[in-house]
Amino acid sequence: MKKITNITIVGGGTAGFMTATTLLNQFPDKKITLVESPNISTVGVGESTIPGINQWLSLVDIDYADFMPHCDATFKLSIGYEDWYRKDSGQNFHAPFGPLDLSQHDFGPPGKQEYYDDFTVRLNDWHLKRIFYPETPVREYTEWFLPSMALINQNKSFMMSGSNWFAAEEFRDHAAGNQGIHMDPRGNHDCVAFNNMDHAYQFDATKFGLWLRDNYCKARYSNNFTHILANVKDMPLNEDGIEHLILDDGRKLNADLFIDCTGFKSLLLTETFGVSFEKFEDYIPNNYAWATKMPYKDPETQIVQYTNCTAVGNGWIWEIPLFSRMGTGYVFSDKFISVEDAQKEFKQELIKKGYENVEDLEYALIPMRCGVQEKLWVKNTCAMGLAAGFIEPLQSTGLTSVHIFIFNLCRALDRGYINEWDRREFTQKCHDDIKSLTSIVAITYALSHRDDTEYWRDLQNREWPEDIFKGTTQGLSKYMRELYYNKNFDQDNHLIRFGNDTVPLMLVGMNWNPIDNASLKYRAPLDFYNNLKNTVDANNMASPRSRMEKRKIRWNEYVKGRPSPYQYLKDTIHNDK
Ligand code: FAD
Repeated sequence: MKKITNITIVGGGTAGFMTATTLLNQFPDKKITLVESPNISTVGVGESTIPGINQWLSLVDIDYADFMPHCDATFKLSIGYEDWYRKDSGQNFHAPFGPLDLSQHDFGPPGKQEYYDDFTVRLNDWHLKRIFYPETPVREYTEWFLPSMALINQNKSFMMSGSNWFAAEEFRDHAAGNQGIHMDPRGNHDCVAFNNMDHAYQFDATKFGLWLRDNYCKARYSNNFTHILANVKDMPLNEDGIEHLILDDGRKLNADLFIDCTGFKSLLLTETFGVSFEKFEDYIPNNYAWATKMPYKDPETQIVQYTNCTAVGNGWIWEIPLFSRMGTGYVFSDKFISVEDAQKEFKQELIKKGYENVEDLEYALIPMRCGVQEKLWVKNTCAMGLAAGFIEPLQSTGLTSVHIFIFNLCRALDRGYINEWDRREFTQKCHDDIKSLTSIVAITYALSHRDDTEYWRDLQNREWPEDIFKGTTQGLSKYMRELYYNKNFDQDNHLIRFGNDTVPLMLVGMNWNPIDNASLKYRAPLDFYNNLKNTVDANNMASPRSRMEKRKIRWNEYVKGRPSPYQYLKDTIHNDK
């Protein structure tokens, strides 16, 4: 058995360079070679990230200010959902990042809070308000519990440093109390800012890959890193797996480990080893995307700090604001609409959104292979990025699954040698991770009540796989199941408070609440129920309802004077442009 010291990565997309970056950083004793084709293009999309990217950046010692100016980057605080629940229902909502601020929930009369707590607080005040005021818009849920909604609603900039709006006492209390102190990641204590899991970035993924290549791999690790521009032409096999790569310039490349980062075609795992691919079509309806890039008419209003996802007739449209342009695309299924008609529909939807000159844009058609390799590591070859697996981009999980898989690879390589147990453990861990992420995407479709086209009617009648609702490694989809079965006030149900917060936000946004009038009245004594109604009443100024609304107003006041995202990015990040 040979110790793994020489690693060759095939593919120079974002996955290839994120893999090289991580291995160089974590294993300075290993030699890393990356070979990329000079003429096969990268997938060219992948612009929106989620906060886990900060964990990866911190793992490899990259500061946001290092890469943002070079990658057309903006900050991202949320994902916006339009028309997902019902067409034109007006029930649009946000799923901002970060923990819900449930710190002010001392609901109930003095001395009786404990009693009230059992029944109410854990399920949170907003749900109670909604019971007695059913017309309450779902969007308000996030406005009550996430201060970032004040920034989103007024389109004011998120600050990485030099800001004092989070220094206001209310934020300080909140920050120090329940959730841990949210400090500027550089430790500037005057600036109580968002923590690492409250924000992410929108950037040009191609530029990000190039930046990693030139400014990280080549610049920081010139002794351990070899970059080759060539096509891999052939791969003779022997008992260990790939004997060596044959390049089109005649060179041969040996390695102890080969990593397939060749995108959807998966030249090594699929084409060479014939590994079968588990499709996610039971979970994810879509298999194509049209993508384009749009110039801004008014960056001041168009650069927002979220990726917008609008459900339309045969899928959904993303809008990702970068600093110099908007990236947009239509994700759809060719089972319900031809690619030509999808392009027409996409253009019509863009016009409805107010975009101009849509006929003049360049459109790229991207077939999507959604699923995961059944084996992610065979003999001396494993896979990363699109070659390993992919979920459609609704929750911006593409690059997340890239760095989660890389993290799993580091764990395996840390043992020095690799045997079949290590390979299988790696595969299992990656499967668990990608399936957790898939469940979150799938519940958005599963919870929709849209029935205005064949595409949506088909979703209404799907028999969703049982494991969407089962606990998975990260326990994400578990929340939904727990909430469902514990709908009648199970007192151990802390999940909504302590768990990953995306799932509750998606549930509420899609009009699924863990508590309703029937379950409240069914379980609670009548005097409790009547008192609750009075307490929640709008006229009762001491009520949590009014307290939460006052807090929301305060949050909105704090951000009023902040610059727009465009202005802030121009002044601090992209100040040479
Ligand atoms: P690619 O970019 O396809 O790179 C493949 C590389 O392999 C290229 O460099 C190519 O030249 C090289 N190659 C191929 N054959 C050979 C050969 N024979 N020899 C040498 N080199 C070869 N992710 C997100 O995080 N957020 C998003 O919003 C998002 N949106 C997406 C939207 C769509 C429609 C799609 C399809 C994906 C999206 N993703 C998103 C995923 C994201 O784009 C990818 O995870 C990421 O770009 C990594 O791609 P990759 O490097 O695996 O593959």
